[in-house]
Amino acid sequence: MSDSREWVDLMLRGGLVVDGSGEPPRVADVAVARGRVQAVGDLSRYTAAEVVEAAGLAVAPGFIDMHTHSDLSLIVNPRAESAIRQGVTTQVIGMCGSSPAPAPEDRLGMIRSLWGGSGEAVEWTWETFAEYLDVLNNRGPSTNVVPVVGHGTLRAIAVGLENRAPKHYELAMMQDLLRDAMEEGAFGLSSGLVYNPSMYAETEELIALATVMAERGGIYFTHVRGEADTLLDALAEAIRVGREGGVPVEIAHLKCDGRRNWGRAEAALETIIGARDSGVDVTYDSYPYAAWNTGLAQLLPAWAREGGSEAIVLRLSDLETRTRIREFLTRSAEEEPGKWDRRLISSVESEANRPYQGKTLAEIADLRVRPAEEVIMDLLGEEKASVGMVGFGMHVDDVKTFVAYPLGMIGSDSGSSAPYGRLGLSHPHPRTYGSFSRVLGYYVRDGNVLPLETAVAKMSRLPAERLGLSDRGTLAPGKAADIVVFDPATVTDRATYQQPHLYPAGVRRVYVNGQLVVDGEHHTGGKAGRILAR
Ligand SMILES: [Zn+2]
Repeated sequence: MSDSREWVDLMLRGGLVVDGSGEPPRVADVAVARGRVQAVGDLSRYTAAEVVEAAGLAVAPGFIDMHTHSDLSLIVNPRAESAIRQGVTTQVIGMCGSSPAPAPEDRLGMIRSLWGGSGEAVEWTWETFAEYLDVLNNRGPSTNVVPVVGHGTLRAIAVGLENRAPKHYELAMMQDLLRDAMEEGAFGLSSGLVYNPSMYAETEELIALATVMAERGGIYFTHVRGEADTLLDALAEAIRVGREGGVPVEIAHLKCDGRRNWGRAEAALETIIGARDSGVDVTYDSYPYAAWNTGLAQLLPAWAREGGSEAIVLRLSDLETRTRIREFLTRSAEEEPGKWDRRLISSVESEANRPYQGKTLAEIADLRVRPAEEVIMDLLGEEKASVGMVGFGMHVDDVKTFVAYPLGMIGSDSGSSAPYGRLGLSHPHPRTYGSFSRVLGYYVRDGNVLPLETAVAKMSRLPAERLGLSDRGTLAPGKAADIVVFDPATVTDRATYQQPHLYPAGVRRVYVNGQLVVDGEHHTGGKAGRILAR
């Protein structure tokens, strides 16, 4: 008679286990029972309710996307297709200063407006951070979620969208809101120091908020104040917040943007390593692409973005202001010849402008027979400033350096999407569907940029440790059974800038908390994800 411990729910037999530790892969069986990894090794003595032959396939811990904007897209479509199809089983949300909660009734319109078109796609039925997490949880997401509260959201509530320092009581209010959000489940605070209103914070404000987190084990996630010419200063500011606020720092989507900053990846890493040597716990994430994605409005000068989208649209209807903005845009293009060929419209809200999705500003200018500078302002006006833009700003060697370096994790910087329904109307950056598979295909197998076991560790154990998820990140007995089974010989991203809604190839099975969510080409509909707790 068998010992009851030898009965398990699932056996992945004979796969190449890449367990997240960073150790070389080994052929082994993985047994799962009650949503957890039961054992790893030669498990021929076990009897399983289901056996999956995994010979020739890699079996790895589910990937953790360190940086997403899935806060609302998970409510629109909780199946998280673009994420789960890559083997992403946990998504960090609330990034770049922007979380949809808290959203007290008297500030709801303002906070909703910060989300542009995606803010229109859901009903905002929550006010507190806890209520938002309840709504998300009740939708039954297919991935786990690590929630973070946005500094921009807190500032919008306490100060509004104006460019000014908070009054004493306003700063105290932001601190209270942060404290509450953390008690309700936030893992930390994110800033987006190029976006209104997060950008109006002085370093001292961020330190004052970090101090609140320090007592509670929170992490400071930051989209730093500059990713081009001022990158090193911006990193220094983030490090200062960590040092003086007493918190770990996660640098979001680290990059060297703009031709004259190419080749500075080593300098950026040296800055981070120097900070670590001096006692500040700094890490970073990046996505494996040489183009970024942001709002088209980010092309405008900072003064023209003050007050948010309504104010932007109003300004664009004023002839004199338009002239000033046009001059600024023209100058920026003179400084970077060919700029409008390297800026591509990724998403619009209106049907009328949908044909421009996937086209460069130069192409749209040709189609409209108008200078690109005018087209930018026209589109912003027509789309109520809610236009997505891709920019080919980075050098692939810098991207490789960031992807390969051991301190770095992977963050898609995307909202999870789907090729159908409302989300399918958008034209996202290919990183949405491809980031993790691209690391495994293009970087590990084809490019030999880093070994498979290192890549898996950077996408599982490292982020789990960073986030304090002690029961995830590796395939070891007792860990939650977040598991991805993929073919290391064929795994590859397929999404492109022209055709972004393509699932990767080579990902065979994805389990979340022991439940099968991706079965070959199919999403099982499994609502296996959880809102994770610190
Ligand atoms: Zn960002």
